[in-house]
Amino acid sequence: MIDLHTHSRFSDGTDTVPELVGAAARSGLEAIALTDHDTMDGVDQAQALGRDVGLDVLRGVEMSTHLLVGSTEHPVHLLAYGCRDDDDDLLALLERIREARRTRMPRMLDLLAGLGMPLEISDVEAWSDQASSTGRPHVADALVAKGYVASRDEAFDKFLGESCPAYVPRYTPDVAEALDTVNRACGVGVLAHPWIRDHETVMTPRTIAELANEHGLFGLEADHPDHTAETRQALHALADDLGLVATGSSDYHGAGKPDNLLGICQTPRVVYEAIRQEIEQRGGRP
Ligand code: AMP
Ligand code: ZN
Ligand code: FE
Ligand code: FE
Repeated sequence: MIDLHTHSRFSDGTDTVPELVGAAARSGLEAIALTDHDTMDGVDQAQALGRDVGLDVLRGVEMSTHLLVGSTEHPVHLLAYGCRDDDDDLLALLERIREARRTRMPRMLDLLAGLGMPLEISDVEAWSDQASSTGRPHVADALVAKGYVASRDEAFDKFLGESCPAYVPRYTPDVAEALDTVNRACGVGVLAHPWIRDHETVMTPRTIAELANEHGLFGLEADHPDHTAETRQALHALADDLGLVATGSSDYHGAGKPDNLLGICQTPRVVYEAIRQEIEQRGGRP
């Protein structure tokens, strides 16, 4: 069993890296990728711990990017595997994204206060204490702790989701620019959950073909808990058409997404080996 999309407390997962590696080993996984949002800070520790328990850990990061359609920036998540961790351009881009996450926070708290739900930044930090990458899920956890909402989901549905009253946009790079940066860092780019929530109307097959042909996109995350069976099938077919690999992963966040159990979606070994081989050929750092 191989699961190439997991989050730890270095971003918005609720497991520490040791907890995540332990849980993965216990659930019988052979390999995982640690793909925290916009940071690779947990990877070295996960790989060291993985070696002790016979779990293969692939270096990963889930980058926050966007696709520009007209004048609207649609959020796109790009999984990058095996990037060199000494590539200045990639590290600068990730830092710029994380910085925008930090500067957004006080503005979000102002909006929430205006809605009658005052929070201190320390309330949020209580949930993001180990995170290199702070995000809305940490704010959601703080809202739950204060009793304003019952769950992360309710916080997103009512207040934090796009087009909700406490939503604050933040800087993200264009997905093509991010892919170019990943490729220069000798890594491999895979579109995360490309067609969740009707995204196929935005991230069209034509756009995916362009990213593949002109920006070296390597794969599509076809099997994801938030994709229907039809969507998964369609993405497998599209990946075949375009000569891309099709991966499968849980998008595990610990208690943050209780339905996304480790290994609930999986990547075939042959696909995993193709990704590893490509990283090696490019001179990346798996
Ligand atoms: P941010 O990174 O701050 O833009 O927040 C987006 C992240 O929040 C996503 O990557 C998901 O991990 C998480 N998320 C998005 N929607 C929900 C939801 N409805 N419930 C829980 N977590 C969510
Ligand atoms: Zn997340
Ligand atoms: Fe994502
Ligand atoms: Fe994710």
